[in-house]
Amino acid sequence: MRLVLVGPPGAGKGTQAQYIASNLSIPKISTGDIFRANVSGGTDLGKLAKTFMDRGDLVPDEVTIAMVRDRLSEDDAQDGFLLDGFPRNVAQAEILRDMLKDWGLELDLVLELVVDDDEVVRRLAGRRTCSQCGRIWHVEFDDKKDDKCDACGGALFQRDDDKEETVRHRLEVYQEQTAPLVSYYVDEGILVGVDATGPVEEVTQRAMEAIRPYLG
Ligand SMILES: [Zn+2]
Repeated sequence: MRLVLVGPPGAGKGTQAQYIASNLSIPKISTGDIFRANVSGGTDLGKLAKTFMDRGDLVPDEVTIAMVRDRLSEDDAQDGFLLDGFPRNVAQAEILRDMLKDWGLELDLVLELVVDDDEVVRRLAGRRTCSQCGRIWHVEFDDKKDDKCDACGGALFQRDDDKEETVRHRLEVYQEQTAPLVSYYVDEGILVGVDATGPVEEVTQRAMEAIRPYLG
């Protein structure tokens, strides 16, 4: 099964990627992991990527694509993979399609985790981080009434990333970037949406049910 997972910030994409990949016995390939592996492994691409990251610049598409190509060529990805964080836009999606086509392969499915904006805001804007131990609590889900860490007594604060206006802005950026990608995969006839609200295990279950008809 060759799978791409897309979803907004706060949809629990990283966690779902891990569970789905392990259920399907395929590697979870995220761009974050690929970057870290290349940089810490000191590959030529890793060194190149680092020059951009050290300057605070975005790593150019060509570098990301070359890393993805290398990763997809590895042995463990020959019988399938789950891609998380790539492709990010239609241009990358077309490159991925051509790359797979060169190898006589194609994507089986693109799974979109669907959560409405207010739910994402509820999840992210309710987070409070401990200033001492870094643990994250949730105002609603952990029923936090005070602003002290239950583990170490440290003061809790809200990270800028978790502030409601920042979350709403991230969601807007996501929609702008991803809407065209989603319609591209709708046109390709391989996009399936999965309701990503509710407990993690239930979402995984729904995802697995959505995948089942596509398993060879
Ligand atoms: Zn703490």
